[in-house]
Amino acid sequence: MRCSVCSKEAILELPVYKKRLCAEHYVQWYYEKTRDFTKKLTRPGDKIALAISGGKDSLALAVFFSQYQREFDVDVFMFHIDLGIPGSSQEARKVVEKFSRDLGMELYVYDLKKELGRSLPEFRKGSRPPCSVCGIIKRYLMNRIPRELGANKLATGHNLDDQVENFFKNWLSQHWDWIAKQKPILPGQGKLLTRIKPLFERTEKENTMYLVAHGYDLPGYKCRYSQPAKWKPIVEMIENEHPGFKLAMIKSIERFDYPVSTQELGECKVCGEPTSQEVCAFCKILGLNK
Ligand SMILES: [Zn+2]
Ligand SMILES: [Zn+2]
Repeated sequence: MRCSVCSKEAILELPVYKKRLCAEHYVQWYYEKTRDFTKKLTRPGDKIALAISGGKDSLALAVFFSQYQREFDVDVFMFHIDLGIPGSSQEARKVVEKFSRDLGMELYVYDLKKELGRSLPEFRKGSRPPCSVCGIIKRYLMNRIPRELGANKLATGHNLDDQVENFFKNWLSQHWDWIAKQKPILPGQGKLLTRIKPLFERTEKENTMYLVAHGYDLPGYKCRYSQPAKWKPIVEMIENEHPGFKLAMIKSIERFDYPVSTQELGECKVCGEPTSQEVCAFCKILGLNK
C-alpha cells in the first residue's frame, strides 16, 4: 500500500477521504483537517484548558494543540484529574506527565485523594453506579479548576465514534436537547466555561494513528469500570457497507437545530458554582447539603 502523495509506504487507508498516507503525510493531513475545524471554535487570546484523561483521544488532542498554539494566538495547558482508581489512575497520570514533558506543555494535576480526602472508588456509596459519580465529579472539577486557573474555554477529546454512540442513545431516549448539546461548541454563561470539541470529526482510529505516526507508544490501560459501547459494532457494520456514514451523521448533529434549555443557572448555596438546583450535584456527593 503506497502513499497517495509521495508513494512511500502508507500507514493507513482513509476510504472516506479516498487516501492512503505515509506517516509524514498522515500527520500533515490530520493536523490540517483538525486545524480548519478548530479555527471555528477558538479566538485569538483564548486560554484553553485541555481535559487530558490519559486516553488516546485526549493525548492526540494535546499533540495537536502543541502545534496549533504556535500557529494561532491561543494559550493552552493540560488539566488532568487523578481519580485514584487502583491500577489505571497511576498509569494514566504517568503517561500524562510524560506527554507534558515531551510536548513542553504546562500540566495541572488535580489529585482527588489529596484534595478531597477520598479517591473515586471511596465515593461509591448508595445506589449510584461509579460512572455516574465519576461524571458528576469530572464535570464539576473540569469547569471550576480550569476557570480558577484563568482558562476561558475547556477542550475535550470527544471523538466522532463517541459522538455517534451518544447520538443513538440520546435519540432513542428522546433527549433532543441532549443531542443539541453534542455540538462542537457550547457557549458558556457566567461561571460556566465554553466547551469545545476539536476532535469532533476525527475517528478513534485517526486519533490512535496520529499518535503512532508521531512514534508514541499507545497507552494500554483501561478503566476497570468502563462499559462496552453498545452501538459501536453496529455503526461499524454500516460504515463498512457505506463509508462516510459516520461523518455524515456527525455533520447532521452539528447542524441539528433544537433549542437548548435556556433556563438561567443559579449558584449552589454551598460552593457558589453554577447549578439548576439549590445545592449542586457535586456538593450532594460530598455530603455538604445538610
Ligand atoms: Zn507520503
Ligand atoms: Zn456546590
